[in-house]
Amino acid sequence: MVSSVFVVGNWKMNGSISRAEEFCQGLRRFELDLAEQVEIALCVPDTLLAAFSASEDVRVGAQNISEYDSGAYTGEISADLLMEQGCDLVIVGHSERRQLFAESSEQVANKAAQALRHGLTPIVCVGETEQQREQGRTFEVVGEQIQAVQRELKAGDIEKIWLAYEPVWAIGTGKTAQPEQAQEVHSWIRAQLGKAGVKIPLLYGGSVKAANADQLFQQKDINGGLIGGASLDLNEFQSICKIASALTKPKG
Ligand code: PEP
Repeated sequence: MVSSVFVVGNWKMNGSISRAEEFCQGLRRFELDLAEQVEIALCVPDTLLAAFSASEDVRVGAQNISEYDSGAYTGEISADLLMEQGCDLVIVGHSERRQLFAESSEQVANKAAQALRHGLTPIVCVGETEQQREQGRTFEVVGEQIQAVQRELKAGDIEKIWLAYEPVWAIGTGKTAQPEQAQEVHSWIRAQLGKAGVKIPLLYGGSVKAANADQLFQQKDINGGLIGGASLDLNEFQSICKIASALTKPKG
């Protein structure tokens, strides 16, 4: 059983050192009165990782990692270099990397394995395009992306990943999946993961904001969100953290 609610921001290629400092100040848990079971993380450009390393309230992650340890891979960044910056999470297989940088499911799986070998937690992103959904291929596409990771990881390692279901048609478009639509895919993913499924945080991503977070996070198999655009606005991100916190408290 995953009992925490995860609020993970993805700044993409945005932000600045001053914004990072503003978020470190603005995300102090005791000031926001957050429940212990809320996990806050921000995945930021590599040059901003160090700005978060002293924060006790926010976990910090990168947005990509090399499959290799070191060597002649110009422009790439290794697990060790990320960890030196205080990073402990890394997004792998974001749809922008799959689509714009032609990353295959095998490469994404290799990156997840590389992250785990070095003690980083990979947040593996999966999701279908609008066309694939319309063709009724959502489960086939998401299934293939997950199976590649299952093939690559050692037995027992699969339960150390976090997984984000991010329908490509909902990313940065303002078109959020209906909570029931997202829940349907999440519960299917959980079943595909077998025994590990109950232990893995399953995040939903795709135009999450304060106005829709509550309904999405209330779904049985949604353990929180991977949040792009709305994670760049401190007020909005604080509101999402508070919504997550309220969901961890006993109702009534
Ligand atoms: C993302 O980048 O992972 C994402 C979900 O973006 P947005 O929230 O802006 O749709």
